[in-house]
Amino acid sequence: MKILTSPIHWIDKVAADIERYWKSSREIICNGGLSVSGLQHVGRLRGEIVLIDAVRRILEENGRIVRHLLVLYTQDNWKGKDAQLKAFKNAEEASKYKGWRLIDVPDPKDCHRNWVEHYWESFGDHLHEFAKSVEVYTTTQLYKMDSMKEVVREILLKKEDVRAIINKYRGRKPYPENWIPYDPLCGNCRRIDSAEPLEVDLESYKVKYVCRNCGYGDWCSMEDGKLNWRLEWTAIWKALKVMFEPYGKDHATPGGSRDSCVDLAINALNFKPPIGVAYEWVGYVVGGKDLGDMGSSDFIGFTPEDWVKVAEPEVLRYYYIISDNMKRLTLSLDQVYHYVELYDFAERVYYGIEKPDKEAWEAALMKRSFELSQLKPIPREMPFQLKYLHAVILVQTLPEEGLLENAIRRLKSTGVLLKDPDPLSVSRIDSRLKKAFNWLKLYAPDEFHVRLLESLPPQLKSSLSSRDKDLLKNLMELFKPIEWNEESIKKTMMRFTSTVSKSESQMLFKALYTVFFGRTSGPRIAPYLAMLDKNWVLNRLKEVTSEG
Ligand SMILES: [Zn+2]
Ligand SMILES: [Zn+2]
Repeated sequence: MKILTSPIHWIDKVAADIERYWKSSREIICNGGLSVSGLQHVGRLRGEIVLIDAVRRILEENGRIVRHLLVLYTQDNWKGKDAQLKAFKNAEEASKYKGWRLIDVPDPKDCHRNWVEHYWESFGDHLHEFAKSVEVYTTTQLYKMDSMKEVVREILLKKEDVRAIINKYRGRKPYPENWIPYDPLCGNCRRIDSAEPLEVDLESYKVKYVCRNCGYGDWCSMEDGKLNWRLEWTAIWKALKVMFEPYGKDHATPGGSRDSCVDLAINALNFKPPIGVAYEWVGYVVGGKDLGDMGSSDFIGFTPEDWVKVAEPEVLRYYYIISDNMKRLTLSLDQVYHYVELYDFAERVYYGIEKPDKEAWEAALMKRSFELSQLKPIPREMPFQLKYLHAVILVQTLPEEGLLENAIRRLKSTGVLLKDPDPLSVSRIDSRLKKAFNWLKLYAPDEFHVRLLESLPPQLKSSLSSRDKDLLKNLMELFKPIEWNEESIKKTMMRFTSTVSKSESQMLFKALYTVFFGRTSGPRIAPYLAMLDKNWVLNRLKEVTSEG
């Protein structure tokens, strides 16, 4: 017997857990965190942006007021990893910034005020395309805010309680008595990873230190340094009243950093810690090769700015939302059409235009994921959907000048578009064409680059054997009566190739690529032919198969 259970999307479950945990609180404050240590890759959109935003949507529908905060850890020290050093013209000289706060490291390309602003741009400037609204704070700002200072004071007053808790998680390397959980900034060498705190004066809000790197000693304002990292995370929760915060899987291990922060919150700082959810990393694939997890300071991956050049933000949102949070995903810019196809399929299923060959619960999860991946209101009827690979073909078969108008005309003449598109459909076609154009220019594998032969070079015709010509001629006859669209072209070709031998079928494809593209191989040909004018295709076949 089949057990019927109503499906619940994992994000709906996360939202339900939050509501249960915070009961009647009207406002829910969600927080994400990122260290701007280098390349701000799209893997970071997964938990800190898309997941939170989808949860937000559900909570708002339930009448809650939701804020989405994002903390950038800009007081963290710059580690000077190889990839970070290589960002500079002179890597050797750049090693002098090791141990500096990220916010103090200069822009290696000299176009922004500092390292953080330079690398933040390709992520921060596109946040609004991936989430409704995000309030961004840097830890540099936070340490100057009264709410944070209050927590810093509290921690220093309770430093023995704090130490006892942290030592539970430090195994054989416990912090000694009188440990001060604060990293001062050295006023001489500017390192934040080297100055040893000696004494705290809460009155003046200063800490006395001696620098292990340069030997300098002084008092440092506690606005300029930072808390020990476990305490920093906990302090931010308290200062910003964070109620929900997802975290990368590295924090999720039992007895790991999140557990210790929760312990600190409850048992030292006396507040209810946020509820969280762990998520897996995103790997970076190039040319079919997995280069490992995307990483900021290792500069592995690509940015949201790169993504939106070649695909809609909703496509990536959908990919993250449909996938279980603890499943490792990979992304490859050369396969972008694949993610777009998954998204388009979900859209057709959502509108009931296509029945998926899947269990009902799976189709329901697709629909829910599609819904949660939207940032704009969902139209009542599905706007026209231009397949990504069709767009790839159109931008290569039509002149760049007046591309949109020509494309619409072509889509109509080839029966892909049945009526004049409404304004939303037009803007979607326009967007797909532009993204496909960029993709071809930037990432498309070689087989997607095909230029149509506008005229037939004479030597090409003579390169075909008489058997080639026979095959093309027979196919041409079969093409003549059919409706000119991808489906019927594909069916006709399959019907024809089933009547000839395998080697003849290979000959046919080779001949087709030759007469249309001047090369012997290429991508699936039916969608290309469908994008061309039927008479033009038939004329080309006639020209190449005619005598003389
Ligand atoms: Zn710059
Ligand atoms: Zn120093």
